[in-house]
Amino acid sequence: MKTKGNDSGSSVNVEKKVAETIKRYKLLKKTDKVVVALSGGKDSTSVIYILKKMGYNVEGLMIDLYLGQWSEVHKVNMTKFCKENNIPLTIVDLKKELGQGICFIKAVLKKQKNLTGCTVCGIIKKWILNKWAKEMGADKIVTGHNLDDEAQNVLMNFLKGNILLGVNSGPSAGGKSVAGFAQRIKPLFFISENDIRAYAKKMKFEILYDKCPCSFETYRADTRDWLDNISDKEKLAIVENFQKEVLKLRKENVVELKTCKSCGEPSRSDTCNYCKVVCNI
Ligand code: SF4
Ligand SMILES: [Zn+2]
Repeated sequence: MKTKGNDSGSSVNVEKKVAETIKRYKLLKKTDKVVVALSGGKDSTSVIYILKKMGYNVEGLMIDLYLGQWSEVHKVNMTKFCKENNIPLTIVDLKKELGQGICFIKAVLKKQKNLTGCTVCGIIKKWILNKWAKEMGADKIVTGHNLDDEAQNVLMNFLKGNILLGVNSGPSAGGKSVAGFAQRIKPLFFISENDIRAYAKKMKFEILYDKCPCSFETYRADTRDWLDNISDKEKLAIVENFQKEVLKLRKENVVELKTCKSCGEPSRSDTCNYCKVVCNI
């Protein structure tokens, strides 16, 4: 493993916490083929590095969203990082997949369907990730979602008056999985953004810390700003308390995943969000 830093001596041992989460929730087996969704940021870079160091069979999967220089720098960084750490990397070209970059698609959907924020991008990324991970023969898909992301989700769903939107949340996605599709897991689920940033800096990963130039999700940004006023310990309490409720909610609200009738990818309803939102634009 090639880095210029090490994790010893940090106030929160991120590597130890990842190992504990994997063990406690039985997230991975050593025989699993693990595809990690790489954005090029601190979270996904840290998680793929730690999993590789722990001896898991990891591969990186990155989507080139065509976000100008930001995407270009991320691609260069991840290509170098994966090469140095002997990790196979696949980069999916959004223009080859969908004919356009993400900004154009977002602009069209805003005009046609009044869809704003990161929702559209999130749906597209999830769909591409599922499709490519299946082609790569993945047993598990790892994402870099952290404690702050999860605390934001809990609060946003609560404020929307629909906590059931989070019924599948957890270090491993709940609901019955569809045969042939890899399960999504989040080894950084209980680790705060502050701790991951400190880890990535300590390890001297050559990455960008800038925010995505196309991120205009004001509702999430407002929730994030509010959460910035509370401690990591309080964010952990929000997420852990909700996880206790999730177990009860799942029993009463079984979410059976189906395959989308149009594209064959996993979906909660007969037609997946991607086909509902992105197709026919
Ligand atoms: S911040 Fe929003 S627009 Fe940017 S990559 Fe993430 S989901 Fe897409
Ligand atoms: Zn579909």
